[in-house]
Amino acid sequence: MDENCIFCQIISGQIPSTKIYEDDKVLAFLDIAPVNDGHTLVVPKKHYVNLEEVPEADLCEIIKVVKKIGKAFKQGLGVLGYNINENNDPIAGQIIPHLHFHIIPRIENDGLQLWPQRKYPNGTMQEVADQIKKAL
Ligand code: 5GP
Ligand code: ZN
Repeated sequence: MDENCIFCQIISGQIPSTKIYEDDKVLAFLDIAPVNDGHTLVVPKKHYVNLEEVPEADLCEIIKVVKKIGKAFKQGLGVLGYNINENNDPIAGQIIPHLHFHIIPRIENDGLQLWPQRKYPNGTMQEVADQIKKAL
């Protein structure tokens, strides 16, 4: 537990939350400022800052819960789809440094815009692929 972490405080019950699901490794609760109704955060109970820190076994438990909640969105909220998002590190918009997956129910014309895209300048696509591949 990190005493200064808001999500650790939610997990320990020091800060109240609207829980959706809980087991010994994972907690899921409603985001306090939802994109759409039902916007849920799924977190490991142990304090890992980001995806690189979390052990594979824990990650597997987290993603299983993400899948379960996505299914429940469709059955319980009647939505047709949802986005799963993990802002990994501050440059990517991570504000709370405790790993969490957003699950955002999507509604027709809800106005949520995903990212703008562009083309690779000539010949650079393979170069970028090679840089990633050699670091794997
Ligand atoms: P991040 O930008 O780190 O990926 O997202 C953090 C999310 O946590 C935000 O969507 C924000 O609304 C949510 N959040 C921040 N503080 C609280 C809180 O005290 N309770 C709940 N339920 N959600 C929070
Ligand atoms: Zn934490």
